[in-house]
Amino acid sequence: TAQLLDRTFDLTDQFGSLQEVTASIERINEIYHTTSRVQDGPGVVFPAGALAIAFESVAFQYEPDRPVLHDISFEVAPGEVVGLIGRSGSGKSTLIRLLLRFYDPETGSVRVGGNDLRQAKLDELRGRVGLVTQEVQLFRASLRANLTFFDDAIADQRILAAIEELGIMPWYTRLPRGLDTELAGNGSDFSAGESQLLACIRVFLKDPQLIILDEATSRLDPLTEQLITQAIEKLLIGRTAIIIAHRLQTVERVDRIMVLEAGHIVEYDQRSVLRNRPDSRYAQLLTMSHPEEMLA
Ligand code: ATP
Repeated sequence: TAQLLDRTFDLTDQFGSLQEVTASIERINEIYHTTSRVQDGPGVVFPAGALAIAFESVAFQYEPDRPVLHDISFEVAPGEVVGLIGRSGSGKSTLIRLLLRFYDPETGSVRVGGNDLRQAKLDELRGRVGLVTQEVQLFRASLRANLTFFDDAIADQRILAAIEELGIMPWYTRLPRGLDTELAGNGSDFSAGESQLLACIRVFLKDPQLIILDEATSRLDPLTEQLITQAIEKLLIGRTAIIIAHRLQTVERVDRIMVLEAGHIVEYDQRSVLRNRPDSRYAQLLTMSHPEEMLA
């Protein structure tokens, strides 16, 4: 298994520099801090179960005459997992921001579960979406409170069932005080990997029908990494997901791959189709990935 995990390498090695990766981390974190300039719609009814996504001729710019996304059209079927890859600045975070309706498109529409997001109430939408970003906000409080966002109505039994279901009991049982473990807030004794596990449990408890995952770029110890991989796999079952992927290993597990370049979709297809097309960027990535390169 260790060998399998060592096969991970950072896609950004192929797509950009380390500095750009850092920029990416900071920018995706802005997703939750962006002050919204959009108005609540009248409200919609999202269907039960995994949610479909459809972008129709979406264009977007933050500033006049500086288009960031051009004519973006794609569909994701309910339950599909899409790996989103592209250089820093290609528009990945912007696409996610439109999906979470932090902005409305200049032209075109974004639909989730068949509903134009302009019609949706923001809370309605975000209540159905689980977001796992690279930096996880921790509170100076018990592990229990950190997992439930201080919601006493969530019973310990449910939390433990989630931990069990996600396959991360081996980690949990090593915590001497269990759910009573006190965290020191951000910058606490929890490692980056443990924080990611915590984020996975949070999302599992929320039970959203759409998951946005910004994969961690930092290298984690193999054991935690394995637990995170496993937890994420469980999280994705029966849910639609978009993963901003930084590791080939992750890309190798998605249903579809989208490659963004300078605000254009240059490739979007089933992974199996792209793998068999020698000129695809994905196929090229695969041939680049000799173990010695990956360990670099
Ligand atoms: P990264 O991997 O670095 O996060 P990205 O692919 O997510 O990159 P975006 O963050 O979507 O790319 O940025 C796309 C373009 O939009 C870039 O040129 C960026 O400079 C610009 N941009 C992003 N956010 C803003 C903003 N709030 N105001 C103005 N321009 C922005």
